[in-house]
Amino acid sequence: MLVFRRKVKRAIGKSNLPGLDYTVNPYIGCAHGCVYCYARLYCEKEIAENWGNVVVVKENIPEILSKELKNVKKGVVALSTATDAYQFLEEKEQLTRRILSILLENGFRVSIQTKSPLVLRDMDILVENAEKVDVGFTITTLRDDFAKKIEPNAPLPSERIKVLKKISMEGIETWIFLGPMIPGEKFEEIVELAKETESILYYDKYRIKPFMRSGLAKELAEKARKFDWFEEFKKLKNYCEILGVSVKSAFD
Ligand code: SF4
Repeated sequence: MLVFRRKVKRAIGKSNLPGLDYTVNPYIGCAHGCVYCYARLYCEKEIAENWGNVVVVKENIPEILSKELKNVKKGVVALSTATDAYQFLEEKEQLTRRILSILLENGFRVSIQTKSPLVLRDMDILVENAEKVDVGFTITTLRDDFAKKIEPNAPLPSERIKVLKKISMEGIETWIFLGPMIPGEKFEEIVELAKETESILYYDKYRIKPFMRSGLAKELAEKARKFDWFEEFKKLKNYCEILGVSVKSAFD
């Protein structure tokens, strides 16, 4: 993997996603390299075309963020929307850890979304600020072997589940992002996991994008085109209702 370092001029951006006011992305690109990842639509061509193999470290982002926050109205910050803030580079770089502290010290609420157990490293900060943070795990399948194909470098779902349970047991608000939903992939056990961890379940369909021109991404896009999403969402919501799980469409 190629890693570049860059000094940035801006750290925080506005978010149009429901419930999120801002977004901070400590990295450009993501080493997890998920075949369906839409984040490549929001970065430069060289990174998008080599998705998963090139990551830019925004080395001065904590310092820039500290300055910017003086002039930003308080709100909810997503960490992150176009990268995984806890991808393995973070272990050494510690940008996310610093950003998390800065945001909380300045009175912002932080919503973390990740696929990585590395988030446990920051449990001290999370526990101390339990009222001001929530942690979400993306889980698209519970089959580790299949996850290895669609999310080649991401920690396995079985590892994510263990971490989700630990965080939930610490009294921190958790959620699961069942998205993109993979056509034909079973969701029942994911709903049961949401029930067990008292997590809100957000869902989204597999969205077909122009970059899905080959391999598994294309194969899944073809299945998604023919898939009866209306029926699938109905079944999902019905099962959530039976179990008493709070379920929401992620982008509506
Ligand atoms: S972990 Fe998230 S940001 Fe990273 S490649 Fe996968 S979907 Fe994209």
